[in-house]
Amino acid sequence: MKEFTVEDISRRAMLALGAAGGAAIAGGAAQAASFGNPDEPPQGAINSTPGALSDPGPQNPALAAEFPVFQSPPPTDVGTMPMLWSSFNIMPKRIQAGGWGRQVTITEFPASKDVSGVDMRLGPGGIRELHWHLANEWGIVTSGRCRVTLLDQQGQAYVQDVGPGELWFFPAGCPHALQGLGPEGCEFLLVFDDAHQSEFSTLLLTDWIAHTPPEILAQNFGVSAEVFRNIPLHDLWIFQGKEASPLAAAQASVASGGTPPQPFTFSLTATTPVRQNEAGTIYLADSRNFKASTTIAAALETIKPGGLRRMHWHPNADEWQYWIKGQGRMTVFDAGPRAQTFDFRAGDVGVVPKNQGHYILNTGTEDLQVLVIFKAPEYQEVDLSNWLTHTPPELVSQHLNIDPAIIARFPKGQVGIQRG
Ligand code: MN
Ligand code: MN
Repeated sequence: MKEFTVEDISRRAMLALGAAGGAAIAGGAAQAASFGNPDEPPQGAINSTPGALSDPGPQNPALAAEFPVFQSPPPTDVGTMPMLWSSFNIMPKRIQAGGWGRQVTITEFPASKDVSGVDMRLGPGGIRELHWHLANEWGIVTSGRCRVTLLDQQGQAYVQDVGPGELWFFPAGCPHALQGLGPEGCEFLLVFDDAHQSEFSTLLLTDWIAHTPPEILAQNFGVSAEVFRNIPLHDLWIFQGKEASPLAAAQASVASGGTPPQPFTFSLTATTPVRQNEAGTIYLADSRNFKASTTIAAALETIKPGGLRRMHWHPNADEWQYWIKGQGRMTVFDAGPRAQTFDFRAGDVGVVPKNQGHYILNTGTEDLQVLVIFKAPEYQEVDLSNWLTHTPPELVSQHLNIDPAIIARFPKGQVGIQRG
C-alpha cells in the first residue's frame, strides 16, 4: 500500500476544510496560491470571508442536498465546464400496460454526444414491441430476467434469456423484441451508439402493418386481406403479453433460418475481473471478449467505501456513466485549466469527454457501482500513476519536485482502484 507523506496529510486537511465550508478560515487572499489552493484569482470557501459564505436563499433543499460539492466546491476546482451530470430520476417515465421507459438522449443531456441511454422496466409478461432502429443497441439487465428475440442481417434468428449482469448487442437495423420473464419481470439499461436515438421513435411492426394498404398486405403475405382485420390501429410500444413459452421451444420455432455464428448475449459478471483487490472490482466487456459488441465497450466498476478509482483518462472515446449503487464524487480535468467536481447517486448519469482526466471517490458507506460505456470497439485507458512510473524518474522528478525514489513507489498498472 502507498505510504502517505506529510504533504498528503496536510493536503487532505486543506481539502477537508474546504469541503466543510471553511467557516473558520478568514485568510482571504492571503491563503491563495498555496498547496491545495492553487488558483489566481483564488476560488473556494477557503479563500472567502465568513460573512460572505452564508446563502440566504431562495433554496431548494432537496436539490441542494443532492450536490453537496456544488454548495462548496474544493479550492482546486477552477474555470467553467459543461454540466456533466444528469439522471434518469429527473426524466418522465412513459408508462403503459406491461411496463415503462425513460431516457436520456442528447436532447435532455447535451454533454452526451456519443450515446443515449434508456432505463426500461418490463413487468411479468410485459413485451417491448417488435421493432428496429438506426443505432446499434447495447443492453444490460439490472434486475429480474428478460427474453431477447432477434433476427440478424443473414436472416438467422437468436432467442435467449438473460439475467442480472448479462448483456446484449443488437446490430443497427436488426429487428428485435424484449419480454419480462417470471414473476418479477425485469429492468434493464439500453445504450444506443447514437446520442440522438430515442426509444420513443423506433420503427414499429404495428405501425408499418397499420400503414400499408390491405391489398398490399394480402399480396405480400400470400393470404386474404381479411387476415389483417384485427390488427391494432395504433402502435403498442410496450404492452402486456402472455407468459413467454419455454426457451427451448421458442428457439426451436425459429431454427429453420439457421443460427448466428456468435451469440448476441454475454455474461459480463461471469468473466474474470480485470481488477480485483481490497478496494473493489472491475469487469470489462468489449469486442475482444463479447464479439458481437463491435461499437460499445463497457466496464462495471465496484468501489468499496472510501476507495478511489485512480486518476486516468480514455484516449479513444467519451465515458458515459450509469451510477447503479451507492454514491460518489468525481472531478473532471480539462485544459485551461478547468476542473469541476460533481456528486452522483444511484440512477444518475454522467459523462467524461474523451481525454479529460478524472477519478471517482466512493463517498458513501456502502459499495459504489458505476457502469461506464464507450462508443468504441475496445476499452482504452491511460492511468496517471502508471504513466509516471513508466517515464524516466529524473524527468518526472524535475516536473513535480518529488524524489525519484518516492515516484518509484507509485502504483503501476491500469484500471486501478486504491483503498481508502
Ligand atoms: Mn431496440
Ligand atoms: Mn474512466
